[in-house]
Amino acid sequence: MVKILDGKIIRDKIQRELAEAVSKLSTKPKLVIIQVGNNPDSSAYVNQKKIFGEKIGVAVELCKFDDSISEEAIAEKIEELNSDKGTNGIIVQLPLPTHLGASKLISNIDPNKDVDGLTPTNVKKLLEKDSRGFVPATAKGVLALLDYYEIPLAGKRIIVIGRSVLVGKPIALSLLARDATVTVCHRQTKNLSEETKRADIIIVAAGCPGLISTEYVSSGQTIIDVGINLISGKKFNEEIGGKKFVGDVDFETAKDIVEAISTVPGGVGPMTVASLFENLLKAIKML
Ligand code: ADP
Repeated sequence: MVKILDGKIIRDKIQRELAEAVSKLSTKPKLVIIQVGNNPDSSAYVNQKKIFGEKIGVAVELCKFDDSISEEAIAEKIEELNSDKGTNGIIVQLPLPTHLGASKLISNIDPNKDVDGLTPTNVKKLLEKDSRGFVPATAKGVLALLDYYEIPLAGKRIIVIGRSVLVGKPIALSLLARDATVTVCHRQTKNLSEETKRADIIIVAAGCPGLISTEYVSSGQTIIDVGINLISGKKFNEEIGGKKFVGDVDFETAKDIVEAISTVPGGVGPMTVASLFENLLKAIKML
Protein backbone atom coordinates (compact mmCIF):
# COMPACT_ATOMS: atom_id res chain seq x y z
CA MET A 1 0.00 0.00 0.00
CA VAL A 2 1.48 3.35 -1.05
CA LYS A 3 2.07 5.96 1.64
CA ILE A 4 0.46 9.32 0.81
CA LEU A 5 2.57 12.27 1.93
CA ASP A 6 -0.06 14.73 3.11
CA GLY A 7 1.10 18.34 3.45
CA LYS A 8 -2.20 19.56 4.87
CA ILE A 9 -1.71 17.77 8.20
CA ILE A 10 1.71 19.38 8.64
CA ARG A 11 0.46 22.76 7.43
CA ASP A 12 -2.28 22.66 10.09
CA LYS A 13 0.25 21.72 12.76
CA ILE A 14 2.59 24.56 11.75
CA GLN A 15 -0.40 26.91 11.60
CA ARG A 16 -1.30 26.14 15.22
CA GLU A 17 2.29 26.57 16.38
CA LEU A 18 2.73 29.87 14.57
CA ALA A 19 -0.62 31.23 15.82
CA GLU A 20 0.51 30.46 19.34
CA ALA A 21 3.89 32.14 18.82
CA VAL A 22 2.27 35.22 17.26
CA SER A 23 -0.23 35.51 20.13
CA LYS A 24 2.70 36.05 22.49
CA LEU A 25 4.08 39.00 20.54
CA SER A 26 3.32 42.54 21.64
CA THR A 27 2.87 43.87 18.10
CA LYS A 28 1.13 42.31 15.10
CA PRO A 29 3.75 41.11 12.60
CA LYS A 30 3.50 42.29 9.01
CA LEU A 31 4.42 40.74 5.69
CA VAL A 32 4.36 42.98 2.63
CA ILE A 33 3.89 41.41 -0.80
CA ILE A 34 4.86 43.42 -3.86
CA GLN A 35 2.84 42.35 -6.90
CA VAL A 36 3.13 43.82 -10.38
CA GLY A 37 0.29 43.34 -12.86
CA ASN A 38 -2.60 40.91 -12.68
CA ASN A 39 -1.15 37.47 -13.35
CA PRO A 40 -4.03 35.24 -12.14
CA ASP A 41 -1.69 32.55 -10.77
CA SER A 42 0.16 35.20 -8.76
CA SER A 43 -3.12 36.60 -7.44
CA ALA A 44 -4.17 33.10 -6.34
CA TYR A 45 -0.88 32.59 -4.49
CA VAL A 46 -1.13 36.03 -2.87
CA ASN A 47 -4.62 35.12 -1.71
CA GLN A 48 -3.40 31.89 -0.10
CA LYS A 49 -0.76 33.88 1.78
CA LYS A 50 -3.37 36.39 2.97
CA ILE A 51 -5.63 33.59 4.24
CA PHE A 52 -2.80 31.86 6.09
CA GLY A 53 -1.62 35.18 7.57
CA GLU A 54 -5.11 35.97 8.81
CA LYS A 55 -5.36 32.57 10.47
CA ILE A 56 -2.19 33.07 12.50
CA GLY A 57 -2.63 36.77 13.29
CA VAL A 58 -0.13 38.22 10.80
CA ALA A 59 -1.04 41.26 8.69
CA VAL A 60 -0.43 40.56 5.02
CA GLU A 61 -0.32 43.79 3.06
CA LEU A 62 -0.48 43.75 -0.71
CA CYS A 63 1.42 46.48 -2.47
CA LYS A 64 0.14 46.26 -6.01
CA PHE A 65 1.64 48.08 -8.97
CA ASP A 66 0.52 48.51 -12.53
CA ASP A 67 2.37 46.66 -15.30
CA SER A 68 3.89 49.94 -16.46
CA ILE A 69 5.71 50.61 -13.17
CA SER A 70 9.45 51.34 -13.43
CA GLU A 71 12.20 49.39 -11.71
CA GLU A 72 13.25 52.57 -9.85
CA ALA A 73 9.78 53.06 -8.35
CA ILE A 74 9.71 49.49 -7.00
CA ALA A 75 13.26 49.85 -5.66
CA GLU A 76 12.16 53.02 -3.86
CA LYS A 77 9.22 51.19 -2.30
CA ILE A 78 11.55 48.41 -1.16
CA GLU A 79 13.86 50.99 0.45
CA GLU A 80 10.91 52.48 2.29
CA LEU A 81 9.81 49.05 3.54
CA ASN A 82 13.39 48.15 4.55
CA SER A 83 13.44 51.05 6.99
CA ASP A 84 9.85 50.62 8.19
CA LYS A 85 10.02 49.07 11.67
CA GLY A 86 6.47 47.72 11.35
CA THR A 87 7.36 45.59 8.30
CA ASN A 88 8.97 42.26 9.22
CA GLY A 89 9.06 40.56 5.84
CA ILE A 90 9.09 41.71 2.20
CA ILE A 91 8.49 39.50 -0.81
CA VAL A 92 8.25 40.20 -4.51
CA GLN A 93 5.62 37.95 -6.07
CA LEU A 94 7.19 36.23 -9.09
CA PRO A 95 7.13 36.19 -12.05
CA LEU A 96 7.56 39.89 -12.76
CA PRO A 97 6.85 41.41 -16.20
CA THR A 98 9.91 40.97 -18.42
CA HIS A 99 10.90 44.68 -18.47
CA LEU A 100 11.67 44.42 -14.76
CA GLY A 101 14.85 42.69 -13.61
CA ALA A 102 13.61 40.42 -10.81
CA SER A 103 16.96 39.43 -9.40
CA LYS A 104 18.30 43.03 -9.35
CA LEU A 105 15.13 44.27 -7.67
CA ILE A 106 15.10 41.52 -5.07
CA SER A 107 18.73 42.26 -4.17
CA ASN A 108 17.48 45.60 -2.74
CA ILE A 109 15.53 43.81 0.00
CA ASP A 110 17.11 43.91 3.46
CA PRO A 111 18.43 40.31 3.90
CA ASN A 112 16.88 40.24 7.38
CA LYS A 113 13.43 40.84 5.85
CA ASP A 114 14.01 38.61 2.81
CA VAL A 115 11.64 35.82 3.88
CA ASP A 116 11.68 34.30 0.36
CA GLY A 117 15.44 33.76 0.76
CA LEU A 118 16.34 35.17 -2.65
CA THR A 119 18.78 37.99 -1.87
CA PRO A 120 22.48 37.28 -2.54
CA THR A 121 23.18 37.19 1.22
CA ASN A 122 20.64 34.43 1.84
CA VAL A 123 21.53 32.47 -1.31
CA LYS A 124 25.16 32.48 -0.13
CA LYS A 125 24.09 31.27 3.31
CA LEU A 126 22.22 28.36 1.70
CA LEU A 127 25.33 27.56 -0.38
CA GLU A 128 27.46 27.62 2.75
CA LYS A 129 25.00 25.60 4.84
CA ASP A 130 24.63 28.55 7.24
CA SER A 131 21.32 27.96 9.02
CA ARG A 132 20.95 31.63 9.99
CA GLY A 133 19.73 32.45 6.46
CA PHE A 134 16.25 32.10 4.97
CA VAL A 135 15.62 29.07 2.77
CA PRO A 136 13.08 29.63 -0.05
CA ALA A 137 9.68 28.40 1.06
CA THR A 138 9.19 25.60 -1.48
CA ALA A 139 12.52 24.00 -0.63
CA LYS A 140 11.87 24.39 3.08
CA GLY A 141 8.43 22.85 2.60
CA VAL A 142 9.76 19.87 0.65
CA LEU A 143 12.33 19.16 3.37
CA ALA A 144 9.72 19.51 6.12
CA LEU A 145 7.45 17.05 4.30
CA LEU A 146 10.26 14.48 3.98
CA ASP A 147 11.27 14.98 7.63
CA TYR A 148 7.73 14.66 8.96
CA TYR A 149 7.41 11.25 7.30
CA GLU A 150 10.91 10.33 8.51
CA ILE A 151 12.29 9.66 5.05
CA PRO A 152 16.10 9.45 5.40
CA LEU A 153 18.15 11.76 3.17
CA ALA A 154 21.82 11.23 4.07
CA GLY A 155 23.57 9.14 1.45
CA LYS A 156 20.38 8.70 -0.57
CA ARG A 157 20.34 9.12 -4.33
CA ILE A 158 17.96 11.99 -5.02
CA ILE A 159 16.93 13.29 -8.42
CA VAL A 160 15.65 16.86 -8.61
CA ILE A 161 13.94 17.70 -11.91
CA GLY A 162 13.98 21.46 -12.52
CA ARG A 163 16.75 23.99 -11.93
CA SER A 164 14.94 27.28 -11.37
CA VAL A 165 16.40 29.82 -8.95
CA LEU A 166 13.16 29.87 -6.97
CA VAL A 167 12.47 26.13 -6.73
CA GLY A 168 14.80 23.52 -8.26
CA LYS A 169 18.18 24.92 -7.21
CA PRO A 170 17.23 25.72 -3.58
CA ILE A 171 15.74 22.21 -3.24
CA ALA A 172 18.96 20.66 -4.57
CA LEU A 173 21.14 22.78 -2.26
CA SER A 174 18.98 22.00 0.79
CA LEU A 175 19.28 18.27 0.07
CA LEU A 176 23.04 18.54 -0.41
CA ALA A 177 23.21 20.24 2.98
CA ARG A 178 21.52 17.12 4.36
CA ASP A 179 24.17 14.85 2.84
CA ALA A 180 22.08 13.45 0.00
CA THR A 181 23.69 12.53 -3.33
CA VAL A 182 21.87 14.96 -5.59
CA THR A 183 21.46 14.95 -9.36
CA VAL A 184 19.73 17.91 -10.97
CA CYS A 185 17.90 17.19 -14.24
CA HIS A 186 16.39 19.69 -16.67
CA ARG A 187 15.16 20.15 -20.22
CA GLN A 188 18.50 19.14 -21.74
CA THR A 189 18.89 15.96 -19.68
CA LYS A 190 19.25 12.88 -21.86
CA ASN A 191 17.43 9.69 -20.83
CA LEU A 192 15.56 11.23 -17.92
CA SER A 193 13.87 7.91 -17.14
CA GLU A 194 17.25 6.21 -16.65
CA GLU A 195 18.15 8.85 -14.08
CA THR A 196 14.83 8.73 -12.26
CA LYS A 197 14.47 4.95 -12.14
CA ARG A 198 17.64 4.44 -10.13
CA ALA A 199 16.87 7.15 -7.57
CA ASP A 200 15.72 6.62 -4.00
CA ILE A 201 13.76 9.85 -4.10
CA ILE A 202 12.42 11.82 -7.08
CA ILE A 203 11.54 15.48 -6.62
CA VAL A 204 9.90 16.98 -9.66
CA ALA A 205 9.45 20.72 -10.20
CA ALA A 206 9.20 21.02 -13.98
CA GLY A 207 5.72 22.46 -14.52
CA CYS A 208 5.02 19.66 -16.98
CA PRO A 209 1.81 17.65 -16.36
CA GLY A 210 2.27 13.87 -16.56
CA LEU A 211 6.07 14.10 -17.08
CA ILE A 212 6.72 11.30 -14.59
CA SER A 213 4.79 8.22 -15.66
CA THR A 214 5.19 4.48 -15.07
CA GLU A 215 8.38 4.07 -17.10
CA TYR A 216 10.13 6.70 -14.94
CA VAL A 217 9.57 5.12 -11.53
CA SER A 218 10.47 1.95 -9.67
CA SER A 219 9.40 0.20 -6.52
CA GLY A 220 10.55 1.46 -3.13
CA GLN A 221 10.86 5.07 -4.27
CA THR A 222 9.55 8.25 -2.69
CA ILE A 223 8.12 10.86 -5.06
CA ILE A 224 7.59 14.51 -4.20
CA ASP A 225 5.52 16.35 -6.79
CA VAL A 226 6.15 20.10 -6.71
CA GLY A 227 4.30 20.84 -9.98
CA ILE A 228 1.05 22.77 -9.89
CA ASN A 229 -0.57 22.77 -13.32
CA LEU A 230 -4.10 23.90 -14.07
CA ILE A 231 -5.52 21.77 -16.83
CA SER A 232 -8.94 21.96 -18.39
CA GLY A 233 -11.00 19.79 -20.69
CA LYS A 234 -14.16 17.75 -21.03
CA LYS A 235 -12.65 15.05 -18.87
CA PHE A 236 -12.83 17.41 -15.90
CA ASN A 237 -16.41 18.53 -16.33
CA GLU A 238 -17.22 17.14 -12.95
CA GLU A 239 -14.67 19.55 -11.45
CA ILE A 240 -15.62 23.16 -10.86
CA GLY A 241 -15.49 24.95 -14.22
CA GLY A 242 -14.12 21.85 -15.94
CA LYS A 243 -10.65 22.62 -14.53
CA LYS A 244 -8.37 20.67 -12.29
CA PHE A 245 -4.96 21.06 -10.66
CA VAL A 246 -2.49 18.29 -11.42
CA GLY A 247 1.18 17.82 -10.64
CA ASP A 248 4.08 16.72 -12.84
CA VAL A 249 3.53 13.08 -11.93
CA ASP A 250 0.92 10.77 -13.40
CA PHE A 251 -0.30 10.05 -9.89
CA GLU A 252 -2.82 7.32 -10.71
CA THR A 253 -0.26 5.00 -12.30
CA ALA A 254 2.81 5.96 -10.24
CA LYS A 255 1.07 5.32 -6.92
CA ASP A 256 0.75 1.61 -7.70
CA ILE A 257 4.52 1.24 -8.10
CA VAL A 258 6.28 3.52 -5.61
CA GLU A 259 6.43 3.39 -1.82
CA ALA A 260 5.45 6.98 -0.96
CA ILE A 261 4.09 9.89 -2.98
CA SER A 262 2.77 13.41 -2.40
CA THR A 263 -0.48 14.57 -3.98
CA VAL A 264 -1.37 17.67 -5.99
CA PRO A 265 -3.15 19.54 -4.58
CA GLY A 266 -2.50 18.87 -0.90
CA GLY A 267 1.18 17.90 -0.83
CA VAL A 268 3.91 20.49 -1.28
CA GLY A 269 1.53 23.45 -1.91
CA PRO A 270 0.25 23.79 1.68
CA MET A 271 3.80 23.25 2.98
CA THR A 272 5.10 26.16 0.92
CA VAL A 273 2.71 28.69 2.43
CA ALA A 274 3.37 27.44 5.96
CA SER A 275 7.15 27.58 5.41
CA LEU A 276 6.98 31.19 4.24
CA PHE A 277 5.35 32.18 7.52
CA GLU A 278 7.90 30.16 9.50
CA ASN A 279 10.49 32.34 7.80
CA LEU A 280 8.56 35.44 8.82
CA LEU A 281 8.61 34.39 12.46
CA LYS A 282 12.32 33.69 12.16
CA ALA A 283 12.74 37.23 10.80
CA ILE A 284 11.01 38.66 13.86
CA LYS A 285 13.35 36.87 16.23
CA MET A 286 16.29 38.23 14.26
CA LEU A 287 15.29 41.90 14.59
P1 ADP B 1 9.56 26.49 -11.38
O1 ADP B 1 9.48 27.90 -10.90
O2 ADP B 1 8.38 25.66 -10.92
O3 ADP B 1 10.82 25.81 -11.01
P2 ADP B 1 10.35 27.01 -14.17
O4 ADP B 1 9.46 27.03 -15.37
O5 ADP B 1 11.12 28.22 -13.81
O6 ADP B 1 9.40 26.50 -12.98
O7 ADP B 1 11.40 25.84 -14.32
C1 ADP B 1 11.06 24.61 -14.86
C2 ADP B 1 12.28 23.72 -14.80
O8 ADP B 1 11.87 22.42 -15.21
C3 ADP B 1 13.42 24.12 -15.73
O9 ADP B 1 14.63 24.03 -15.02
C4 ADP B 1 13.38 23.07 -16.85
O10 ADP B 1 14.67 22.76 -17.34
C5 ADP B 1 12.73 21.88 -16.18
N1 ADP B 1 11.90 21.12 -17.13
C6 ADP B 1 10.80 21.53 -17.79
N2 ADP B 1 10.32 20.57 -18.61
C7 ADP B 1 11.14 19.51 -18.46
C8 ADP B 1 11.19 18.20 -19.04
N3 ADP B 1 10.30 17.82 -19.93
N4 ADP B 1 12.18 17.38 -18.65
C9 ADP B 1 13.09 17.77 -17.73
N5 ADP B 1 13.10 18.98 -17.15
C10 ADP B 1 12.14 19.84 -17.51
